[in-house]
Amino acid sequence: MRFVLVSGNKHKAQEFESILRLAGCASELRCIEAKDTAECGVTYYQNAYRKADAGLAVWHQATVSREDIVVADDSGLELPEFGGIPGVYSARFTYGGMPGRLGLALFLHDHEVMTTPANFICWIIAFVPWTSACIAARGVVHGTVSWSPRGLGGFGYDPLFIPTGHAVTFGEMDSKLKDSISHRAVAIQELWSSIEARMRL
Ligand code: IMP
Repeated sequence: MRFVLVSGNKHKAQEFESILRLAGCASELRCIEAKDTAECGVTYYQNAYRKADAGLAVWHQATVSREDIVVADDSGLELPEFGGIPGVYSARFTYGGMPGRLGLALFLHDHEVMTTPANFICWIIAFVPWTSACIAARGVVHGTVSWSPRGLGGFGYDPLFIPTGHAVTFGEMDSKLKDSISHRAVAIQELWSSIEARMRL
């Protein structure tokens, strides 16, 4: 069995590979890119479905194994005390002319909020052609964000996010630890359990 991840994001691909390994899943991972994967939905589910569907079309045209599983995810960071921003728009968030985590740090600074609760969310859609199944899996990790970035690891908002029960940001954390507790890890573990359950049928 092989996972075919529809993504051009190297960080995500590395995390998928590492999480699958940590979950004891001996599957290989291959990445493909597809057209028509613009994140124009208003939910993570819509965006993940659109990416996986576009990937499935590419997969159908290639010479591939029947045992492949085509997967795509959409993820984001939500600040509940600020209406859930940046949320599904995390990849395109800007504030004060600054993109992504720089914009979010500036936003917190301007609102004089040193730290506020935050959740990382991940939705995965998987097409399993050999069982004709479409599986959706969701993962959440709770924590806080602060306006001062810490750590050089990970990507995106990682240097701002401190998961509950830890003293360091995702950006400071050993990547293996992030890959065992992250929103993506929770979603992939749920996906893997669903696939295993279907294999037993
Ligand atoms: P997408 O799932 O590719 O749309 O990613 C959405 C955006 O959310 C990314 O560009 C990152 O800014 C952010 N994001 C998603 N997952 C993570 C993560 O694990 N760490 C840090 N930022 C993330």
